Amino acid sequence: MDFLPLFHKLQDRLVLVVGGGEVAVRKARLLSDAGATLRVVAPDIREELREMAAARNGEVLLRDYQPTDLQGVALVIAATDDEPLYAQISAQAQALGIPVNVVDAPKLCSVIFPAIVDRSPLIVAITSGGDAPVLARLIRAKIETWIPAAYGQLAGLAKRFRAQVKGLFPDVQQRRVFWEDVFQGQVAESVFAGKLQEGQRLLEEKIAGIAPRTLGEVYLVGAGPGDPDLLTFRALRLMQQADVVLYDRLVAPAIIELCRRDAERIYVGKQRAEHAVPQQQINQRLVSLAKEGKRVLRLKGGDPFIFGRGGEEIEELAAHGIPFQVVPGITAASGCAAYAGIPLTHRDHAQSVRFVTGHLKDGSSDLPWSELTASSQTLVFYMGLVGLPMICQQLIAHGRAATTPAALIQQGTTQNQRVFTGTLANLAELVAEHEVHAPTLVIVGEVVQLREKLAWFEGAQASV
Ligand code: SAH
Repeated sequence: MDFLPLFHKLQDRLVLVVGGGEVAVRKARLLSDAGATLRVVAPDIREELREMAAARNGEVLLRDYQPTDLQGVALVIAATDDEPLYAQISAQAQALGIPVNVVDAPKLCSVIFPAIVDRSPLIVAITSGGDAPVLARLIRAKIETWIPAAYGQLAGLAKRFRAQVKGLFPDVQQRRVFWEDVFQGQVAESVFAGKLQEGQRLLEEKIAGIAPRTLGEVYLVGAGPGDPDLLTFRALRLMQQADVVLYDRLVAPAIIELCRRDAERIYVGKQRAEHAVPQQQINQRLVSLAKEGKRVLRLKGGDPFIFGRGGEEIEELAAHGIPFQVVPGITAASGCAAYAGIPLTHRDHAQSVRFVTGHLKDGSSDLPWSELTASSQTLVFYMGLVGLPMICQQLIAHGRAATTPAALIQQGTTQNQRVFTGTLANLAELVAEHEVHAPTLVIVGEVVQLREKLAWFEGAQASV
């Protein structure tokens, strides 16, 4: 180990920054965040640096570095590109036993800046010892995605109760088990969901020895349109901690794969007109699993609140007093439009967009056709494959131009994505000539023509 990671307490300590440019600003910002007082020395100093120094009673010296600048400082940062000068600063600081960092010259450093993930009071620092800073930054980016932003708040909550818990459990082992349960259980989950007060209440109950809640919780999570990369961080985290997963046909197998390995998986899939498990039964299932104390993940394609019956499911949960949270997902309209190169709105072509169900119950009468004909409006039909000929006909019959561009997107965002483009007059015919696989989405409007210029993603099969 070439460097020992230690965390430096700089609150109100004086730090010398030699240099007044961009690099100095970056370092100074970190130092200010850590509460340091700055002494900045350089012939030319940026305004931001002056402000940072002034904010904490620091000083700004508009001249070249002098060895006396080292007096009384806890740390030295040389952020100048003057090589003889920074070698000199490094030697003089080290002779006085002052930690020194020379930007981009690891050999002259006695301390180095790590890549930082800041969830104060929780801080993660990563270094490659100056050998591969880009690698350290990449690892940091990964860790950023693993640690929910609210971890800092969770740590803050733990800090407030630390002494009390220590008094309660003198035994280290018992204490460890207690905190593990807090950080992996409902207390943490409440904090991550933004319910800090509820988290605190649960922690207080736990400390008071009140029997742990026997109720589980339901996570209603949007899994996006298919590409697993389009999951949200929160979706992924909840997928990895739920005890039971209920999913339907729209959720891609690659996404189910990301659920906790030992979680029970229950398929409640629905095909058009063939409801594998009636909705009421799914609702009741969610309730009974949660009542058994399980953490239940209800995974839905796209977004749970867009043609997803998410509302109906949580109404039932609410009626039974079962805690739940809803995680939005990328809805098929957004996913398919993006991957097909069709902006849903555009200043020149569409001032609004409307998501419409294309599942026509009794022929065509149940859609407000006359509201769908404005030429500056993009229409997105979900569940519109079977009704496509009828949809196109009705739109034309109610006054939308037969030449209006229209597209059908099959299995958008996945490797099987295929896009059929035509007009209201010929799209249905074009689609009928090909073997098309569900799910499909239909987009109608002038914006469809932009695909010619903006298409960037192609699945394995050619588009038509
Ligand atoms: N809650 C989902 C929609 C469920 S309704 C969401 O927000 O996306 C089911 C319809 O969604 C399908 O009939 C189809 O029209 C559309 N759909 C979902 N995923 C799709 C995909 N990857 N490609 C094309 N259409 C999709």
